[in-house]
Amino acid sequence: MKRPPALLWFAVLLLLLLPTAAGRVLLDLVGGLALVLLAVPLLLTGLGWIGWKVLQSRMVICQACGTTVFKGVERCPACGTSMPLDSSGPATSNTAVPASDVTIDVTAQEVKSDS
Ligand SMILES: [Zn+2]
Repeated sequence: MKRPPALLWFAVLLLLLLPTAAGRVLLDLVGGLALVLLAVPLLLTGLGWIGWKVLQSRMVICQACGTTVFKGVERCPACGTSMPLDSSGPATSNTAVPASDVTIDVTAQEVKSDS
């Protein structure tokens, strides 16, 4: 007969049901553990997503064969096609439209009214 496990469960149940300090500590522990178990996967998912986005922003797809390679590579390692230069790093800043060209200038005008 295995009596000790049942007695142990009863003791734990008693600890949880009775408003004792030990029971509260045990409940806090279980609550914290559940929170950690819930938060850690969420945190890891978020970090993984951010990492994936960062990695994606540093990758470029070969237009000839579709292989994904890192930016700044002159030639595709799979097919040898030279990669377009406009998709690699700081060179794009020269071809970008200046902010002053896209800004709409608003000038105030005086409107005369006879009221
Ligand atoms: Zn390629």
